[in-house]
Amino acid sequence: MAKKTIDQVDVASKRVLTRVDFNVPIDDEGKITDDRRIRQALPTIKSVIERRGKLILMSHLGRPEGKGFEPEHSLKPVAARLAELLPGVKVMFPGNDCVGPEAASAISAMNDREIVVLENLRFHKQEKTGDGLFAAKLANYGDIYCNDAFGTAHRNDASMLAVPLAMKGKPRVAGLLLQKELKYLSEAINNAKPPFVAVLGGAKVSDKLGAIRNLMSKVDTILVGGAMAYTFLKALGQEVGSSLVEARMVNEANAILAAAAASRTDLVLPQDHVCGKQISQYTPVEVHEGNIPYGWMGLDIGPKTSSQFGTILAGAKTVIWNGPMGVFETQPFDVGTKQVAQAIARATKKGAMSVVGGGETAAAVEAFGMAEQFSHVSTGGGASLEMLEGKAFDSIAVLDDA
Ligand code: AMP
Repeated sequence: MAKKTIDQVDVASKRVLTRVDFNVPIDDEGKITDDRRIRQALPTIKSVIERRGKLILMSHLGRPEGKGFEPEHSLKPVAARLAELLPGVKVMFPGNDCVGPEAASAISAMNDREIVVLENLRFHKQEKTGDGLFAAKLANYGDIYCNDAFGTAHRNDASMLAVPLAMKGKPRVAGLLLQKELKYLSEAINNAKPPFVAVLGGAKVSDKLGAIRNLMSKVDTILVGGAMAYTFLKALGQEVGSSLVEARMVNEANAILAAAAASRTDLVLPQDHVCGKQISQYTPVEVHEGNIPYGWMGLDIGPKTSSQFGTILAGAKTVIWNGPMGVFETQPFDVGTKQVAQAIARATKKGAMSVVGGGETAAAVEAFGMAEQFSHVSTGGGASLEMLEGKAFDSIAVLDDA
């Protein structure tokens, strides 16, 4: 069900309490090293400010203990960066407690077109526990609730669920970033044009199990790369050398292979591997087809696999991708991931719809300078994976329907 969005409600002179994901990396000197999450929230922020709303932004940052203020987890640098991105707009950062008296009085004194950024929600452990009393204090700040924090959408933190529940009767809407994420991820999965290809990689089968099971009946082909391929190959009785294998998942991998054989979905495993004895840039490398000898680790898909995956992707009309094909952080084991990224980008250029999952996969396409070449690169790692698993999110269900 589509959700009502912030641009569909009148915000003039109203206090719009908005949950954003400003969980940006900050270095030891307090400098933001990547401000993408702040920039991605700008469409929602501008939509409210340009229509004379009063905007109250709340977020978490990092993993503080939940026992009060910690300077290294303060959102102060984020508020300062936001002010730089919005010249002419007053951005306030009152006090060091999101539910403290300074925050409350700054909000009650706000004028139209002004922004208050609240201090880190997770300085209160009640944010993670979803506490109703804490949520009620936050809920008091708003006439309208807006959720634009896709990266946290799979979590029932207070600001994601208890706050909108406490604001029942007031408008509760999706922000423009959240709307975009839902549109791409749910459309890719539920209204996909065939051939529909899923590319799954990364470290562990256990992390992707739910996604594989959910996608099995929906996609035409699942291409498996990354370390998780070795648990499948081991299940098939192949020698995998010292490659990363989840021993306790071998039976489960067998069950998935059997389910794939009985379904209409092809599950394709790598036929060759770029191997090393350690994960380092100048380590000697060998390509092995089939069995991997003792002492060697499969660290990337090999050239034959890359080319086979490329051929399958060339015909795809819908592609979802989650998880790198190898240890992309260390050359030369980035090649398979890069070639798969290029194959998906080519398919996209020919009209396919492509969605790249957040987390490590988004980091990989950013590192390759290719983020613009896909239909959508998700901002949520865990959240986008849970959408691939077919899970419904309480934090989204609570929002008003369109
Ligand atoms: P995930 O967070 O599950 O998507 O896993 C991403 C991580 O898997 C990245 O840090 C990769 O370096 C790692 N990875 C991918 N392929 C391999 C492999 N063949 N061996 C070891 N690690 C791998």
